[in-house]
Amino acid sequence: MIDLRSDTVTLPTSAMREAISRAELGDDVYGEDPTVEDLEQHVARLLGKEAGLLVPSGTMGNLCAMLAHCARGSRVIVGNESHIFCSEAGGASVLGGLVLHSIRNTADGGLDAGELADALESPDDAHVAPAGLVALENTHNRCGGTVLDAAYVGRVAREAHARGVPLHIDGARLFNAQVALGVSARSLVEDADSVQICFSKGLSAPVGSMLLGTKAFIHQARRARKMLGGGMRQAGILAAACRLAIDEMVARLADDHARARRLAEGIAAAGAPGFHVIPPATNIVLVRAERADGSIARVVSRLRDEGVHVNRVNDVRLRAVLHRGIGDEDVERAASAFQRVLRGS
Ligand SMILES: *Cc1c(COP(=O)(O)O)cnc(C)c1O
Repeated sequence: MIDLRSDTVTLPTSAMREAISRAELGDDVYGEDPTVEDLEQHVARLLGKEAGLLVPSGTMGNLCAMLAHCARGSRVIVGNESHIFCSEAGGASVLGGLVLHSIRNTADGGLDAGELADALESPDDAHVAPAGLVALENTHNRCGGTVLDAAYVGRVAREAHARGVPLHIDGARLFNAQVALGVSARSLVEDADSVQICFSKGLSAPVGSMLLGTKAFIHQARRARKMLGGGMRQAGILAAACRLAIDEMVARLADDHARARRLAEGIAAAGAPGFHVIPPATNIVLVRAERADGSIARVVSRLRDEGVHVNRVNDVRLRAVLHRGIGDEDVERAASAFQRVLRGS
């Protein structure tokens, strides 16, 4: 099976398994795990933030951020295609008493400018839930791994800050943006108040994400993490692998991006009427159907029969994600499977 469902299926490297076995450990809930402390400081320095907090998942990192930034009853302004809105089980509302205010994502993964300006208006009016946070996503998963540059992040940050609203970045794949743009990840989060990154996607760590921001913010987020049951004891086991993810696995993301472009070209070569492939900015290839007629579900299921596993995003979109487990030959095989299936659909 060629598994293109997600870059989360990547297995830890043998170097990670060795680092795990050698990791110095302590009880991190008491602040005594040296491997976790090292990782938090290392990544905070790398991203130009004061402090970091290791969390079990990106979902918990985003939720801790929302809980730390926002009072109950306030609004979190997010894209309608964002992971926070679409794929985190409504945790902000269920567990945080927050209103998720979704506004239109543009095709490049940004937020519609007019809707953002409207959403940021928080008149002192008893009818209106006050704006508590804006969240961007970089790279943008459901928009097809699209990249936001530092200038755009800066503009959104200034607009939010002018209204006294902080900016969070869901950077589950921030390092894919770094590699695609050839700039530092630090420059992409400089104007944001907090950022969440995942070690467990293309960077191949088995488990782990990190939330970063000021010391005071991370202090609040640490309480939220404990409340959510995310305080982990000898978490250096995870941090040891996450350290290698960040130190050794970033540069190779360029290979995934090149293979994504190659796969997209192969799919486009099918010339199948009714389907379009979006040229990928990073490691995610989207195929769109012109009509919501069940054709995407049929394509996904036929690809499966051909040994290629992809994800249906919705009735007009499927997603293929490139990652360390996929080599050049897999890409060629997947491209020919796509051509057979799309021509026959
Ligand atoms: C994967 C992902 C997350 C968090 O995922 P977890 O599975 O909870 O670690 C958050 N945001 C985006 C954009 C993601 O792709």
